[in-house]
Amino acid sequence: MELADYLRKGRDRKGLTYSELASRAGDYSATTFQQAASGRFLPSREVARAYAHACALDIARVDRLWEIAYREKRRVARGPLPPALPPHLVSNLDDLSGALVALHAKNGAPSIRLMLKRARQHASECTPLSTSALHRILSRATVPTSRNSLQAFLIGCDVPTHQRQRWERAAARARRHHRKKTELASQAMAQLEQQVVGDTGEDVSPPERANQLLRAANLDPTEPYRGFTATWTVRCLKCRGVQRVKLAAVAQGRAQCPICGERNTRTSWEHGGGCLGARRQHARPRARSSHQRSGPGRDRWW
Ligand SMILES: [Zn+2]
Repeated sequence: MELADYLRKGRDRKGLTYSELASRAGDYSATTFQQAASGRFLPSREVARAYAHACALDIARVDRLWEIAYREKRRVARGPLPPALPPHLVSNLDDLSGALVALHAKNGAPSIRLMLKRARQHASECTPLSTSALHRILSRATVPTSRNSLQAFLIGCDVPTHQRQRWERAAARARRHHRKKTELASQAMAQLEQQVVGDTGEDVSPPERANQLLRAANLDPTEPYRGFTATWTVRCLKCRGVQRVKLAAVAQGRAQCPICGERNTRTSWEHGGGCLGARRQHARPRARSSHQRSGPGRDRWW
């Protein structure tokens, strides 16, 4: 490991023992420094810096070498790090997640414990996150879901105040993008609902129509229809097994009996209660559908 090499040579040149290094640095023991220069483990960046400082080495070079070693270690353990996008290039939640993980690495990959300690030291600026929340952000399972959690994450990564505003703007932009995408998806879902069970002024009411379509997909309702995206307890007409589906999933061709594997999709509707194409011509827009109910109150972002 190039970092260990550089650290070892730096100490040799100064002719210092590890104990002398430790007493110069103050915060760390001789053993910690010895391990740091052994090349067997990657020291924390703080340890590498303290070592470099005690030997009067080039700190910027130590940082660079540390980052290379960290990327390699992480690549082996968890796959490559995402690209380090600057905040102004973040446009969606996926970008944001990757950029925050890369920022964490660039800032020395502080441990969860150190991140929590830093957040507690800035209690006036943020409420510390839980250990599991930090884990989930670092493993890219989630992104900070509120202004506070973003602050706590950035403070944990030792990002100075003036730079945090740029990240806040990036996160707000990513969130707007997400909201827009969700809105479009929910509009598309509302359209599909309109086509499939929309009230067309015919004799058949939407719940009756839903029942017809369900039967056409080889399913039998065991309870009244509650809505296009509501979970519906139904019985498979092929194996008689009870399962829960959404009519939306049936309409999208995603429904399949978990017991016998029968695909309960709309392709089978054509044998039963009418076809989509014919209904589409009759369909007239409805003022409001159950999918447009997601207002800002349901969004946990700031
Ligand atoms: Zn079945």
